[in-house]
Amino acid sequence: MGANLSIIVVGAGVFGLGSAIELARRGHTITLLDPGPIPHPRAASTDISKAVRMDYGSDELYMALMEEAFEVWDQWNREWKEALYHQDGFLVLSPSEMKPGSFEYESFQMLRKRGHSAERLSSKILRSRFPAWNAEKYSDGYFNPRAGWAESAKVVEQLARYAQAAGVSVRQNLSASSLSMDDRRVTGVVATDGERYSADVVILATGTWSPLLSNRLSTMISHVAQPIFYFHPKNVDLYKARVFPVWAADLSNTGWYGFPVTSDGTVKVSNHGPGRKVHPDDNRETAAGDEVWCRKFLSDNLPSLAEAPLAGSRTCLYCDSWDGNFYIDYDPEFPGLVYATGGSGHAFKFTPVLGRIVADVVERKPNPYSSRFAWRKPSAQTVKEQARFKG
Ligand SMILES: Cc1cc2nc3c(=O)[nH]c(=O)nc-3n(C[C@H](O)[C@H](O)[C@H](O)COP(=O)(O)OP(=O)(O)OC[C@H]3O[C@@H](n4cnc5c(N)ncnc54)[C@H](O)[C@@H]3O)c2cc1C
Repeated sequence: MGANLSIIVVGAGVFGLGSAIELARRGHTITLLDPGPIPHPRAASTDISKAVRMDYGSDELYMALMEEAFEVWDQWNREWKEALYHQDGFLVLSPSEMKPGSFEYESFQMLRKRGHSAERLSSKILRSRFPAWNAEKYSDGYFNPRAGWAESAKVVEQLARYAQAAGVSVRQNLSASSLSMDDRRVTGVVATDGERYSADVVILATGTWSPLLSNRLSTMISHVAQPIFYFHPKNVDLYKARVFPVWAADLSNTGWYGFPVTSDGTVKVSNHGPGRKVHPDDNRETAAGDEVWCRKFLSDNLPSLAEAPLAGSRTCLYCDSWDGNFYIDYDPEFPGLVYATGGSGHAFKFTPVLGRIVADVVERKPNPYSSRFAWRKPSAQTVKEQARFKG
């Protein structure tokens, strides 16, 4: 691939910004479009916090990729006036002895295998070290100190500054309304100002909106709403990171996870579950009953939070790929089009390394991770199952 490509990046979330920065630093000419403002309030990348962890069960590739990302999170914290990645650790709770095959057990083993320290827990340790928890509920689990959370919207702001510093032409208030084609080659985009913008390569980094711009993704990606709750507990000391780090409570069965209190007194709780199938432009309100469901979980597990005033709630959309892996590849049938999407509810933590993978793919250079994210189609069986599952 040529040394100086003209590239249009559509979407200024972490996939788009990461790609634009890396490709600009490699000498390409980059134009980035987003309806803005950046960070966009409806973007998945925009929130007060996102979990940053390498705990991925038995999936060694994601842990290896996270080990690389951690180096850059640390470097960014040194570069930034205020640290936006907080290494407060990750508390993984199991209601019974961790068993082979479970997310908790396999993550604990993989941490050990790769030389990371993780402290095994018991109800006794949980009660003394993390007093907000109903320790009767959890007899096993572990605490991983090499983990934490990032102030995601502020990270996006920093990346937008890096993009401008790298010479990216950042066009806010401008969306791509369609791809422009010459036969089967994608030659640019038609934008909402009615103009046609040409490029050698178009990178679709529009998150959950991606299938709206390329229906080639319609059987690979779905839009799934997940609820988020923001509480303002009175006794904030109980929720400070030292005694209340990022947590996942019997994640595979309950889906509940959450964060320590932020400087403005907010404790965020969210659910990583089947979610609800929606359209990306639908309203982002939580569904009736969601708050009751959340408070039920809290009353059994974090009793003092169950009564806390709710400062707000909303949904955020997973850009769920059929197998949970990202899509970073050229479209095999439409030259000039690259996908950088499919975050599937877990891409933010990889922000420091996403741009590198996308840039290697664009330049057709080898990358140890790119095969996992290459173009792939779900089997007919999977499509049938997913259609049944999503109902
Ligand atoms: C509830 C929830 C919780 C999550 N928690 C975590 C977590 O704890 N840890 C973690 O690692 N990950 C987490 N994630 C996943 C992570 O947030 C996403 O994978 C990641 O942010 C996706 O980034 P993106 O750039 O693909 O999409 P987005 O951030 O959604 O960005 C897409 C951008 O495209 C723009 N756009 C859309 N259409 C157009 C158009 N036509 N033209 C131009 N621009 C357009 C939008 O304005 C937006 O700015 C979570 C996600 C959700 C929804």
